[in-house]
This record gives sequence, structure tokens and C-alpha cells, in this order.
Amino acid sequence: MERDQNAANRAEEQPKFERQYPDHYLKEAHQATFANEDQIMESTQCRCFYCGYHFDAHDEEHLLWATEREPLARTLHCPKCLVDCVLGSASGYPINDEAFIWACTEAWFNGISEISDGRPQKRVTIIVD
Ligand SMILES: [Zn+2]
Repeated sequence: MERDQNAANRAEEQPKFERQYPDHYLKEAHQATFANEDQIMESTQCRCFYCGYHFDAHDEEHLLWATEREPLARTLHCPKCLVDCVLGSASGYPINDEAFIWACTEAWFNGISEISDGRPQKRVTIIVD
């Protein structure tokens, strides 16, 4: 019964933006978040598609990179939330377009992200001894 009510509530929700990006475009954008070291370092702006953090990787004190299988480049984790879904301006994707950001976070995280929730950005702190 409760489940039916949730489904009904969801159906009434209006999408925040009109869909203007096709699924394959969003899928390709997601792939560009993987092994993206060259792209990130060529970019003057980066965007995390989980928490929305906007930054310049060159200005960040610490960057967390995941090592991928050779010969792939490393994958950047967001300096703020540590999720590995960062795109840089050099990727060619419209990383500052609110509709694009929304479409990506909905597609990649099934609507479960800090952007979808409208929650304020929180920085994850890592303490290294
Ligand atoms: Zn983030």
C-alpha cells in the first residue's frame, strides 16, 4: 500500500528540466568520466556530476586519482565528495549547463545524488597520518 502511494507521488513530480539530451549522449559523457586524467589536466574548469562541485583541478591542493589498468590514464575522484564522476571543460561537454548536469546526474545515479536531492555540497575530509 505504501509502495503504491510512493509511486503515485513520483508520478506527480514534474521533471526539473525538459529532456534535451539523448540517452547515448549521456552515456558517452559518463564514459568520459573514466580514465580522464589528460582531459582533466587540459581543462580550466571541472564539474562533479554527483555533488555539483565546480573547480579547477590546478587549484586543488589534493587530487585523488584512481589507477586504471594499463595503458589507461588515471580517473579523477571529486575533491569534495570523492565520487568518480568528474568531467572537465576539455571534454567538450556542456559542464556548466544546468539542464545537462541534471540530465547526467539523473541518468547516472537514477536520481540519487546530492544534485538531485538539492542538498548543499559537503566536503569530505580525509585525514592522513
Ligand atoms: Zn563531488
